[in-house]
Amino acid sequence: MTSLNFDERVAIVTGAGRGLGRSHALELARRGARVVVNDVGGSVNGEGASVDAAQAVVDEIEAIGGTAITNHDTVSTADGGRAIVGAALEAFGRLDILVNNAGIIRDKAFHKMDEVMIDAVIDVHLKGALYVTQPAFTHMREHRYGRIVNTSSASGLFGNFGQANYGAAKAGIAGLTRVLALEGASYGIAVNAIAPIANTRMTEGILGDLTSRVSPASVSPVVAYLAHEDCKANGSIYSVAGGRVAKIFVAETTGSVISALTAEEVRDQLSAIEDAANYHEPDSLAAATSIIADALAN
Ligand code: NAD
Repeated sequence: MTSLNFDERVAIVTGAGRGLGRSHALELARRGARVVVNDVGGSVNGEGASVDAAQAVVDEIEAIGGTAITNHDTVSTADGGRAIVGAALEAFGRLDILVNNAGIIRDKAFHKMDEVMIDAVIDVHLKGALYVTQPAFTHMREHRYGRIVNTSSASGLFGNFGQANYGAAKAGIAGLTRVLALEGASYGIAVNAIAPIANTRMTEGILGDLTSRVSPASVSPVVAYLAHEDCKANGSIYSVAGGRVAKIFVAETTGSVISALTAEEVRDQLSAIEDAANYHEPDSLAAATSIIADALAN
């Protein structure tokens, strides 16, 4: 079995000062990638800043013989995104891999969630992924090669009480993944996402019995595969926790074509409409539209 190495490759991992990002950065560096360890070094709620977390990870990478630099720009502004990508290009002259991982939480039941909590979380997760990816994607497109790994969450894909801001941002990241997978496909760019569960400060005290089984290190091998040239996936989202890997996919039921559609018909035929015994898994809006056209033609 040949091993997956990243010799010559350059990676950015955002939010790599601790938790999952630190683990991804170490995994990529151990396999030969030169890594930009980006982190603002704030609290789990996104308050404060420190250069220590990113520096500690760079020290760890250098201790195992790897190459890495720190970067402390925020992902949540367009200037920050450009500076993070610029740091990779300035230090290493190229960029092959972007792992969008930086994140914060500001949980609250929706009726009590204020504007600051909404903006802070959307800014770091959703705008952060857009702002860092855009200059990276432009560079990768010009060089006709790239691997982007986004970080979504079961919170947004399946729902979670108290995380309207976070879940909306994480579902948005899934949408971004799907769109960029299409835009990058003919330029050698693969864009995928993980929805991880791991024992980090973000999940402190909430994982119960799972805590000891779901280390960040048990997630990073999937990131390494998705970041590698050998990656066959594009536009896919994987649930990853404790060594378990599963595909999360967006599908629609075969549905019902109801000639005289009324609210009452919807009520009476809801179970047929929702019957998931057969389903389609369109990989684009065009594919979804063509399924509708076929159904209406029959
Ligand atoms: P963590 O708090 O340990 O790490 C997040 C890192 O992101 C921190 O080091 C933080 O300083 C950094 N960061 C925050 N805002 C930033 C910004 N504006 N710019 C740059 N860096 C910033 O949390 P984690 O659990 O390792 O989370 C990593 C990612 O995984 C997040 O996107 C999180 O939402 C996602 N996630 C985690 C879990 C889990 O179970 N831990 C589950 C689903 C998704």
